[in-house]
Amino acid sequence: MLRLTEACCFPIVFNSTLGDWTAVHIRIAEISGDGLDVIASRGKAWLSDVLEGLDPYPLETWRLVSTELFLQVEGKDVFVEGAYKAEGEGRCDKCTEPVSIVIAERFHTLMVPPDELPAGNSHVELHEGDLEVNYHNGVSVDPEEIIREQLSLGLPSKLLCDEGCKGLCALCGGNRNRGECNCPDQKPGNVFSALESLEEKKE
Ligand SMILES: [Zn+2]
Ligand SMILES: [Zn+2]
Repeated sequence: MLRLTEACCFPIVFNSTLGDWTAVHIRIAEISGDGLDVIASRGKAWLSDVLEGLDPYPLETWRLVSTELFLQVEGKDVFVEGAYKAEGEGRCDKCTEPVSIVIAERFHTLMVPPDELPAGNSHVELHEGDLEVNYHNGVSVDPEEIIREQLSLGLPSKLLCDEGCKGLCALCGGNRNRGECNCPDQKPGNVFSALESLEEKKE
């Protein structure tokens, strides 16, 4: 169920979910010239839902600790300035030990209407290199979606307990960060040469 509070005069459209009113869309035409601090205007309560349904891979669990989101409008363009801090847990890709990480990022995004080519916009040229350009639907932007996208981008591609993690021994399963086991050297080349020598013995 959607409704616009206070007739047409409030920039945030609310969505009723089990009795909680959470902001889903912000109408671009109704963001004031001073900009809109989304979190200050909405409170932090609605942020608890932001991560729902979002795949935290390679993390197993995560939480959004804090976020800021500020929107400014110039013509049909929406400038988004934001930051977030999230923390999460998972397991090291190499040694499977538990790993906790904190992800803290700042972001700037320019959202343009679907019919506007970013190349024709002076702001894109001014900020080239550090400003992402996205499209909005011409009417409203979804603050939750903006944060979700940034959170996805901020996830590491893999999780390591340490850059120099030595991983597990392929033979005994021992954690090689805790000291070398007494298994024979197991570089891939050696496995193949061992197979080769077996083949040779057969012949
Ligand atoms: Zn590790
Ligand atoms: Zn071993």
